[in-house]
Amino acid sequence: MKSYLADWILPVASPPIPNGAMVVDDAGRIVFLGARAQMPAGTEQTIYESSVIMPGLVNAHTHLEFSDLDAPLGKPGIEFTKWIGEVIKFRFGSERVEKSDAIAMGLEQSARHGVMAIGEIATAPVVLEDYQSPLPCPMALRVFFEQLGSDDAEVAQKVADLEQFFAQAEAPLSSACANQVVAAVSPHAPYSVGDCLLNELAAVGVKRQSFVAMHVAETLAEREFVESKTGPFIEMLTSMGVWRPAAYGNYQSILAILEKLSECDSALVVHGNYLNAPELDFVAANREKMSIAFCPRTHAYFDHARYPLEEMLERGINVAVGTDSRASNPDLDLAQELVEIHRRHPDVAPETILRMGTANGASALGFDESFGRLVQGREAHFCVRRVADVSSPLAWLENRA
Ligand SMILES: [Zn+2]
Repeated sequence: MKSYLADWILPVASPPIPNGAMVVDDAGRIVFLGARAQMPAGTEQTIYESSVIMPGLVNAHTHLEFSDLDAPLGKPGIEFTKWIGEVIKFRFGSERVEKSDAIAMGLEQSARHGVMAIGEIATAPVVLEDYQSPLPCPMALRVFFEQLGSDDAEVAQKVADLEQFFAQAEAPLSSACANQVVAAVSPHAPYSVGDCLLNELAAVGVKRQSFVAMHVAETLAEREFVESKTGPFIEMLTSMGVWRPAAYGNYQSILAILEKLSECDSALVVHGNYLNAPELDFVAANREKMSIAFCPRTHAYFDHARYPLEEMLERGINVAVGTDSRASNPDLDLAQELVEIHRRHPDVAPETILRMGTANGASALGFDESFGRLVQGREAHFCVRRVADVSSPLAWLENRA
């Protein structure tokens, strides 16, 4: 048996343990979690000085295919539709590394930052082998196959591709890989997914008892598009030659889109930056199956209005945390997202912020108690953070990198 000792252990599922010890058996299960003085004798000890041990962090929303970027695209405060133009230019540019390599880089970066579970948005063609690169610790990945388009003639093919993706995910993974990969579906966003495609993707999600994720209420322009079919997104779609008004007749409100997503077994609302009170009430009323992924530094990058975090938490909504991609974020360091939340929302309790980056994310992605929490009897998926200040378990939230 191995034991891991640190100034603090933060199990998340139970109170912080000062001078803590965690003992793990040969099968990787936690057999003791408590004070050093009470730990069983005869273990192989690893002592982490000036450190906290906590569950592996959960990045509830990212797009690993952009992990080869050194810096976000555009500049801080860029208008969202202009940024999308930059993303398209980059995606189809000639200087890119292979997508599989970018994903491998993203997995490696995530592991380095103590992330052990990811809600990944993947674009066609999705190759599940891309998620099997060997890592120091196995990762749990919920891979959402992202689809978009408003041409009804293409819907059948997109649904077939999605079905094939689910079938691919059911096949056994190569034995060399210990990463856990689970398939899910993602209609991209209200402005990029026509009614027909949204309905069909949701139908596959329902049939497959799958998770669904969608970027919703990310910008005010998106609300304008949904509610009145005017504004920057019309200009953007028109300039791309894909504005098809007839394809967007059914969903005239953000609420209608949330209702559609709620038909699936579990729905992750990505961003939700501009959800209003009735929309938040709806997510709260469906909290058993709906979560929201907040991406704090991406939120700051676009200079959005204050995030309605307190309003979400007051309603008991399960708020998870994501980095979003390196196209709008400097890195995949989830702990820095938590630091950013603490800085922008100082009244939210540090314990709540840690829970958002761990247990809430695991719940949002449907991973069991082995992820996002340290629980006796469960597998130990943990990370270690070196800290300058050990006077309290979450003092590190004050430290901006
Ligand atoms: Zn995203």
